[in-house]
Amino acid sequence: MKSRIRRARAGFLLLLLLALSQAAGCGNFITGKSPEGSQAVREYRDTNGETLEIHFMDVGQGDATLIRQGNHAMLIDGGNNDKGTVLQSYLQYQGVENLDYVIGTHPDADHVGGLDVVLYKFSWDTVILPDLQKDTKTYQEVLEVIEDKGKKITYPEAGDVYTLGNAEFTVISPTGEDYGDNWNNYSVGILLQFGENRFVFTGDAEEEAEQDMIEENVDLSADVLKAAHHGSDTANTMAFLEEVGPTSVVISCGEGNSYGHPRAGAMNNFRSIGAKVYRTDEQGTIVAVSDGTEITWNCSPSESWKAGEPLGAQGAEMEKAGTDYGAGKDKGEAKNEYILNTNTKKYHHKSCGSVEQIQEENKEYSNLTPQKLEEQGYEPCKRCNP
Ligand SMILES: [Zn+2]
Ligand SMILES: [Zn+2]
Repeated sequence: MKSRIRRARAGFLLLLLLALSQAAGCGNFITGKSPEGSQAVREYRDTNGETLEIHFMDVGQGDATLIRQGNHAMLIDGGNNDKGTVLQSYLQYQGVENLDYVIGTHPDADHVGGLDVVLYKFSWDTVILPDLQKDTKTYQEVLEVIEDKGKKITYPEAGDVYTLGNAEFTVISPTGEDYGDNWNNYSVGILLQFGENRFVFTGDAEEEAEQDMIEENVDLSADVLKAAHHGSDTANTMAFLEEVGPTSVVISCGEGNSYGHPRAGAMNNFRSIGAKVYRTDEQGTIVAVSDGTEITWNCSPSESWKAGEPLGAQGAEMEKAGTDYGAGKDKGEAKNEYILNTNTKKYHHKSCGSVEQIQEENKEYSNLTPQKLEEQGYEPCKRCNP
């Protein structure tokens, strides 16, 4: 009897995956350009609630993950400002009508930028944000929609448990530590469980926050880890990876991004724990489906092990000299050169007086257009108005 159920379930999974991969081609099905595919996805929707679907959406440099369990759904992050309508189409395409939870891991634009559109266009129950007061325009737009809808924000505490249909998730960060101005470290992290399968998401939490999660002494072991901070080497420490022990790691980052994500150090760590790596910059939207015991993917793991290349001072110089630095042409380079503060996420004119105050470790040069920079979460300096 049990084996028959299993076989039926396997058959269903196969159909679902077939449908998903047809729609996806393991590529950019977030653009939703395949009407046949969209029908197939709807036809094989799991309305019986036997599976958990995780859609690591390709939103370029940023994060956005849709999780579905039966008729329940949640969204973790919403990509950059220009991704709001893309997310809206994707969610509609998937037949999502209500989001049980919307989590904005932290106020950075590459995480909460598109959330205002989603919160405005869809019905939702609970919005979870870290308890940080930030006055960036992007973040204020999110807060305004919540207020307009007459709802309250839920501030998470490590240990809080929420249910999503037959799945549940536990908040693992922030743990209440003070990280000063490093917003990344206040990221809302969760451990999602469905049957025996477990998934860990930590937003952009960096080394200090990873250490604090370990010190909480909760079981962080999981099958799948969404790489922290787009595969940065300021996160994804060996200590944390050993604690989670994932068999698969998913990296969400933009093709040819100027941060050089994923960084070689992080890639080496993933490799050394023997994890399979999936990445949105190479594979587009990635879908994992769990039946509670096994996890199936809509594409094969990436074999490239290719690290990103940061477009810092050196990169800008090389690009000016006409050297192909891997960022490619037609990616929005401008003639102007800007100075980035990677900590405050502001960009400045070279002549701006604030530039002198930027610490060397947070300073980067860029010749991307303001539009591209804003897509990557940067905001213009109010003093020099670049
Ligand atoms: Zn980020
Ligand atoms: Zn961030």
